[in-house]
Amino acid sequence: MRKQIAAANWKMNLTYQQAEKLLTEILNARLPLGPDQQVLFGVPFPYLIMANSEVADDTNYFIAAQNCSDKKSGAYTGEVSAEMLQSIGIRYCIIGHSERREIFKESHQVLGAKVDICLQYDITPVFCCGEPLSIRDEGTQNAFVQTQLEESLFHLPAEQFQKLIIAYEPIWAIGTGRTASTEQAQEMQQHLRAVIRNKYGAAIADAVSILYGGSVKASNAAELFGSPDVDGGLVGGASLQAQEFEQIIKALKQ
Ligand code: PEP
Repeated sequence: MRKQIAAANWKMNLTYQQAEKLLTEILNARLPLGPDQQVLFGVPFPYLIMANSEVADDTNYFIAAQNCSDKKSGAYTGEVSAEMLQSIGIRYCIIGHSERREIFKESHQVLGAKVDICLQYDITPVFCCGEPLSIRDEGTQNAFVQTQLEESLFHLPAEQFQKLIIAYEPIWAIGTGRTASTEQAQEMQQHLRAVIRNKYGAAIADAVSILYGGSVKASNAAELFGSPDVDGGLVGGASLQAQEFEQIIKALKQ
């Protein structure tokens, strides 16, 4: 079975003490996870080392950065490189979140470079894609999101592409409380898998995990994750509350 993944995106929230408490509480719940189930915590940069030591050698729980530079190293004040992340044992990084695309104007090209540099340093990109409301209202969302994949990912050879995790996050559903319906999520994710199949073949398309993100909560996770092409979720707001996120983890397909 494809990996089923609950990925927390803490964004720019929580003090160090709050972050430590939240992580400890979730880890102490000792949820029984199967070999194909994974939990990622996308934590702010200053907490990566602490968080990584909390999950240590666990085979189900991993820590992710929320971003990294598209540059290797050098005079880029304030940036964090993939090599730095690798050097502290980080193996996952969220790339292309809509907030990075919209607020920080990250282009397809920059995101493609970030994906490349992560892979170069053995960091798995969690590549986010998704359409704004205007595109959904026009009905052109499938082509829009397909272009995001093509422009930032389809230069990759198959053996690199198969390492990725994809997260479909319709922008109109992020932080708004308005979730895509199960049918909308499944329809898009089935489309993306078909696009990947056309480019890379059935084996890779069937193996790549595609998460849904956008107002996932304990109350809707099981229904969303129950869809055949939804392999778990990327979760913002609800990942900041231990019990809520634990319920979301429990909703992953077995
Ligand atoms: C996100 O930030 O990726 C996200 C999906 O946020 P929320 O769950 O709060 O909508």
